[in-house]
Amino acid sequence: MADIIDELIRKRGFASRIFRNREVLHPDYIPDTLPHRENEIRRLAEHLLVSAQGMRPSNVLIYGLTGTGKTVVVKYVVSKLKEKASSLNKRLDYAYVNTRKLDTTYRVIASIAQSIGLRVPHTGLAISEVYRRYINALDSWGGLHIIVLDEVDYYVKREGDDLIYKLVRANEELSKAKIVLIGITNDVNFVENLDPRVRSSMGEIEMVFPPYNAEQLFTILKQRAELAFNQGVIEDGVISYCSALAAREHGDARRALDLLRVSGEIAEREGAERVTIEHVKKATLEIEEGRIYQSVVTLPLHQKLVLKKIVELVEAKESTTTGEVYTAYSNIMRNLKYEPLSLRRISEIISQLDMMGLIISEVVNRGKYGITRIIKIRKDMLPVIKDALKDVEA
Ligand code: ADP
Ligand code: MG
Repeated sequence: MADIIDELIRKRGFASRIFRNREVLHPDYIPDTLPHRENEIRRLAEHLLVSAQGMRPSNVLIYGLTGTGKTVVVKYVVSKLKEKASSLNKRLDYAYVNTRKLDTTYRVIASIAQSIGLRVPHTGLAISEVYRRYINALDSWGGLHIIVLDEVDYYVKREGDDLIYKLVRANEELSKAKIVLIGITNDVNFVENLDPRVRSSMGEIEMVFPPYNAEQLFTILKQRAELAFNQGVIEDGVISYCSALAAREHGDARRALDLLRVSGEIAEREGAERVTIEHVKKATLEIEEGRIYQSVVTLPLHQKLVLKKIVELVEAKESTTTGEVYTAYSNIMRNLKYEPLSLRRISEIISQLDMMGLIISEVVNRGKYGITRIIKIRKDMLPVIKDALKDVEA
């Protein structure tokens, strides 16, 4: 039956020439198999199964660079275990909370409570009350509750570790149910700087996800491309090219998938029949431009003003210096009747802009004229930066 519908959709010109199923390239999609993460899946699933059998559960802390498959592996394991639980005669459920997105303690605990079917109002209750209701409901349910706190570094930096500590110790209050915490972070420094007490209770088991190499990214992309694209649409070499580019950036699978998706979108926009290496090159630029645009529009005002002056100066004569930028910046501040920031602050701002990759600056020693900084902007990035600054009036 589906074939008839597909046929009609194609005939009526609804279907994409390039994509068979775009959803598969969406960041939230969970594939059926996760190549090169078999060991991580086995270790995590085994640990959770042991916990479901009645051992005191140990908490797990998972870390590794972005795009190494941490989120997808954990979601894969917990959702499969939940699926199997009833056939194993076990009660098992999970809460998945991304604490970068749910950014208050109230929202985090409310979301954990909701995952076992509790109704919690959006506001109005004390956090301790939501917590108490959760613990009571959990104990009368009496199963293993897996709590996944993704990007947990954001939470701890903002709200401290009280809730985490409470959850870690909750097993002492529970008589029938059990809680196991899985913390995930992209930030290795966070793990190293974590209070040793918290680290040892939150991460009784630690798992480090290594970056993928180009070959591994190739398998991952190939598998996804077969589902996402129409047959024969991807030209030879495209997938290995995307893999190689992403491998250079620390083996980030998200980046590799984004490249492939954007390449396909560009091919489609151009009405091309196939996705070629040229499309991937355009995609690289488009992604980088998107990143630059975002980082410029979210800059604070003084940073924007400094960048705007740099743009004007390099457009007039290729490169500029800290001194020139400072003069131009102070002039507009005076025109606007504001007190300019100090030269030192402006130098710091220039260094920040450099670290963000928005400008290129080089310190040169001019002998008796002292040290100065030569500032440039990549030509191909100028239009995006100007576009992102178009609302800054000065
Ligand atoms: P992290 O949480 O470590 O930043 P993710 O789990 O979000 O990384 O993975 C990034 C993207 O790459 C997701 O779209 C995910 O589905 C995909 N991915 C990562 N590892 C694999 C793998 N081994 N097999 C298939 N897809 C993967
Ligand atoms: Mg993640």
